[in-house]
Amino acid sequence: MAEIKPEQIDTTLHGSGKKKKDQDSHASTIPKGVVLDEEGKPCRLCTSVASWKALTKRAKESPSPVANTATTSATSTSQPLHNTNECPPDVEALGRSTWTLLHSLTAAYPKHPTQEKQNEMRSFLTLFSRLYPCWVCADDFRIWMNEPSGQNQPRLSSRQDFGTWMCEAHNAVNRKLGKKEFDCKFWEERWRTGWKDGRCD
Ligand SMILES: Cc1cc2nc3c(=O)[nH]c(=O)nc-3n(C[C@H](O)[C@H](O)[C@H](O)COP(=O)(O)OP(=O)(O)OC[C@H]3O[C@@H](n4cnc5c(N)ncnc54)[C@H](O)[C@@H]3O)c2cc1C
Repeated sequence: MAEIKPEQIDTTLHGSGKKKKDQDSHASTIPKGVVLDEEGKPCRLCTSVASWKALTKRAKESPSPVANTATTSATSTSQPLHNTNECPPDVEALGRSTWTLLHSLTAAYPKHPTQEKQNEMRSFLTLFSRLYPCWVCADDFRIWMNEPSGQNQPRLSSRQDFGTWMCEAHNAVNRKLGKKEFDCKFWEERWRTGWKDGRCD
């Protein structure tokens, strides 16, 4: 199961100023893997389902301030939650959907894009790396993209370049999470044409 890196949680829990004080008072009640947002509240989009369930379970057992927050959000709807597929995404569901969008953008990218198209895509990726709702994921992605040598800057001069770059970006996250890397020579079969063995036809 993918998980936010421990140091990312540490950063969140051990910030400075008033926020630190508030968060420290919650730290003992927060299960491993739960990441907080900038207000010090649990960030569901940054946390796996397993850790989120541990948090809500703990919330039911102990009436701490963080526990109350989680309980409130889980029970504030008047609709009973019968179907788990109708719940807000966790970090993994959000990630899978987002990779589908990102790789599909490369699949639909022109073979020979105009300069304007390249500029638009560069702007999109810059904004994406700031706005992606799992903030710890966004921070690391932005740092990877802006690696000082410049070697991870988006390559946008052709569909092939962009597809391969996106595959490398995804592999950087796979490596961070201890997942198997994808062989980038197959990115187009996976995301554009379908596999040559015909299983997608
Ligand atoms: C920008 C970004 C940053 C993220 N950062 C984090 C993080 O810091 N912590 C965290 O827990 N999660 C993070 N995620 C989510 C994480 O990458 C996964 O999406 C999530 O763990 C679910 O993984 P999965 O195994 O279902 O497959 P995913 O990694 O979501 O992949 C979906 C499918 O894409 C294909 N694929 C896999 N690798 C490649 C590749 N290199 N090129 C092309 N296709 C490929 C495979 O067919 C795979 O089934 C991030 C997601 C994004 C979009």
